[in-house]
Amino acid sequence: METAISIKNLYKTFRKTVALDNVSFISKEGVNIILGPNGAGKSTFLRCIIGLYKPSSGSVSVFGKRPYFDDEIRDKMSLLSDNYALYDFLTVKQNLRFFGNLYKLKDNEIFSKSKNILKEMDALKFFDRKVVELSRGTKQKIAFCRAMLNDPDVLLLDEPTAFLDASSSEWIRNFILDYGKKRKTILFVTQKLDEVSRFNSRLIIMREGKIVEDTTTYYIYNDIMKSSSILIRFARPVAISVLKKAGYKFDSMESKEVSSAKFYINNYKDVNSLVGKLIKNKAFVLGIDYIEPLVERISKGG
Ligand code: ADP
Repeated sequence: METAISIKNLYKTFRKTVALDNVSFISKEGVNIILGPNGAGKSTFLRCIIGLYKPSSGSVSVFGKRPYFDDEIRDKMSLLSDNYALYDFLTVKQNLRFFGNLYKLKDNEIFSKSKNILKEMDALKFFDRKVVELSRGTKQKIAFCRAMLNDPDVLLLDEPTAFLDASSSEWIRNFILDYGKKRKTILFVTQKLDEVSRFNSRLIIMREGKIVEDTTTYYIYNDIMKSSSILIRFARPVAISVLKKAGYKFDSMESKEVSSAKFYINNYKDVNSLVGKLIKNKAFVLGIDYIEPLVERISKGG
């Protein structure tokens, strides 16, 4: 399989700001998650790949072409960016027709494809409404639909679920998982750490314009659970005495009963044993969070 995206020693500067600092990257088929704090260079990275930004130095190649210079390669790509790039004066239908026609798609193709997608996200009812009248979340749904019109081989998504309700976010994540199986290359930028655990995929962590880790979601979750903490939430308050019986060190805010507690564990196998003991002592475990150690890992490095 031909590598879709190949980037060598990419620098992108804006006056004195170094947004991308010597980034090299070879994409893999399927989902590549990109995670990093604000200002890490994630959006700039996607914009260099789609050819919106010219590299200050280094090279960006997509299927052997340079997107900034070679217009035709952009037909194989799509970017869902944070500004949605929709025309406010036009209706949803007119926007989709306009963008679909740019890809030389016929109107009936455009409408049947987009109606299916919009229906799944409960946004078909806005088809004849002007974009200016829509909420931010609805605009995001329309922009996602637009990004899918050309059936892109390279799909670049900049926080695609940022303003969506839970069910639409879930629909998009499942859609992306399926799409990744169709020999497509997807770069998925997210700030939502709970979203990361939904994917079993490659994970790129960016910080200060650099790729600082190139790992997988599986590895990172195993790794951060070494000598780490997890937050366990309970469906109803649990007595401190029950927590003590589980045999792991913990912190809790209250002294008698708690609805959540932070436990310290040594490896991921401890999660099973800890939860098992809590359940045995009649605690109702509602959820487990690894978010705090993941935040530390992203902001400071592991
Ligand atoms: P992220 O998407 O990770 O939040 P960005 O790629 O948006 O990060 O930004 C990386 C850095 O580059 C930031 O310091 C940002 O202010 C700067 N930057 C991004 N785009 C521009 C631009 N068009 N003009 C000037 N500075 C920019």
